[in-house]
Amino acid sequence: MGHIGKDFDTFKNEGNRVMDLSGRHILASRQALPSNEGFRAKNPKTNEILEPVFSEGGSSEVAYAADQAATDFDAFRAVSPLQRVEFLESIAAELLSCKTALIERCNLETGLPPQRLEGELTRTTNQFKLFAETIKGKTFLNIQIDQGQPERQPLPKPDIRLTHIPLGPVAIFGASNFPLAFSVAGGDTASAFAAGCPVIVKGHPSHPGTSEIAGLAIQKAVEKSGLPKGIFSLIQGSGNQVGEALARHPEIKAVAFTGSQQGGRSLFDIASSRPEPVPVFAEMGSINPVFILPDALANRGEQIAQKYGESITLGVGQFCTKPGLLVAIKGPELDLFIAALINKLKQIEPATMLTLKIQKNFLDKVGHFSVNPEILFSDQSCLAEEQGCQVTPSLFKTDVDSFLAQKNLADEIFGPAAIIVECQSSDEMLALATQLKGQLTATVHADLSEENICKELFFALEKKAGRLLLNDFPTGVEVCQAMNHGGPYPATTDSRWTSVGTAAMKRFMRPICYQNFAQSLLPEELKD
Ligand code: NAP
Repeated sequence: MGHIGKDFDTFKNEGNRVMDLSGRHILASRQALPSNEGFRAKNPKTNEILEPVFSEGGSSEVAYAADQAATDFDAFRAVSPLQRVEFLESIAAELLSCKTALIERCNLETGLPPQRLEGELTRTTNQFKLFAETIKGKTFLNIQIDQGQPERQPLPKPDIRLTHIPLGPVAIFGASNFPLAFSVAGGDTASAFAAGCPVIVKGHPSHPGTSEIAGLAIQKAVEKSGLPKGIFSLIQGSGNQVGEALARHPEIKAVAFTGSQQGGRSLFDIASSRPEPVPVFAEMGSINPVFILPDALANRGEQIAQKYGESITLGVGQFCTKPGLLVAIKGPELDLFIAALINKLKQIEPATMLTLKIQKNFLDKVGHFSVNPEILFSDQSCLAEEQGCQVTPSLFKTDVDSFLAQKNLADEIFGPAAIIVECQSSDEMLALATQLKGQLTATVHADLSEENICKELFFALEKKAGRLLLNDFPTGVEVCQAMNHGGPYPATTDSRWTSVGTAAMKRFMRPICYQNFAQSLLPEELKD
């Protein structure tokens, strides 16, 4: 038994806290009553129904949480930066203190292996620490001071000073594919708290127990830090009503979402049509094109095929950065590349997807293709129902004209699948790049000898993607100052912002300037 197994045994000896899950929402200071009506999580590995029943949220829970958040917003935005730093660090500490329970329950609810979840939890806690570090300095406030010149002719110049303030309560949607790093205690929550905004999370229905454990850790950190309880709520739900009510509520001032295009667009439309429209930062995934230029294909084709195979199957292909489209020039080098890639995919064991719905979507999409795109590799016949939500990788091939004519080929296939588009020339490659929809990432594999075409390609791809990669793979998203995880629509609803990295907190702040203010009346950070 490995390290995780030992942890689990210890955890069970500690009194099996998993069974203590209440199934309740966390509504600021109120203890929500458990409900008999509700939903249960499902183990995607076994299709076993998991206890307990989780309460189904609705508009009354949303109204209560939003009002509490609005009431406590002023107290939260007024706390010292040091107190906010301590709060973020305290969340990281509380999450670590329930690590065993969190990983065990998350493993049951998502089928993701404990090793992956350990890594994700480290990333999750590090995000809080990174935001804490960021707000220790004041650079995130982007302060500008234009000192007054009363003597200026022909008109005096007024004293104007700019800073940034938090927007107000933010509604956050937990993502199914990152149940820790992009869920209740994920990057959106960390960045909203760092900005000084209260948070209401709509828990993802596929991992409600994980959400409850993470939510209780945040609630504890709120209490320990002496902050007002209304700054955090978690509402569970297995239908659209909670999300819609949140996006409509007048006290919600911004929405952050990771998930499907349909869900993100629907919330965007609701929030935009409110009497007071508010921003929706929806990250909805993309097909993340990879272009392999001829010299790179000839010199390193097999090596790239190995890494590409790993990248499209990482996390069972359930990454918004999975590079699902590969573009290269037709010929013997591409044939060798494809053979190496198929060989790699054959070695991949069937693996469990996050939910039955996601598995069904995947099987429907890959099952739909037959002649054009041509199936290069796809064998789902080995899957048995008792093995839960398993799938195996699939690979398809088509030409540029067909890719451009069949609009659905440009849609994300969430799971371990990719489509190869064969071009006749590098000009055709370039033409394809100009026709792509908005993407989170775009990658080029090129040798030094191909600098000119590489530059041309990147010039076209700059208009299409939020992150460009050279001779690398996009699946990992580093959490750092320079990261941009966003891109033109439909990858996101607003290409000016990132949902990963410290710049993510800028989404939840707005500029404000003070003109002709006496020093004593200026905010602390704007004083001389
Ligand atoms: P999803 O269906 O978009 O759901 C994400 C969250 O948004 C859930 O809490 C869901 O609540 C809520 N929601 C969705 N549509 C809504 C609507 N119209 N109104 C109000 N709330 C709404 O995503 P998913 O369940 O994670 O996976 C489904 C598909 O999304 C996948 O097959 C994949 O294509 C895509 N996906 C993309 C990413 C990405 O990184 N961009 C990540 C995960 C999934 P309820 O379910 O309770 O309604």
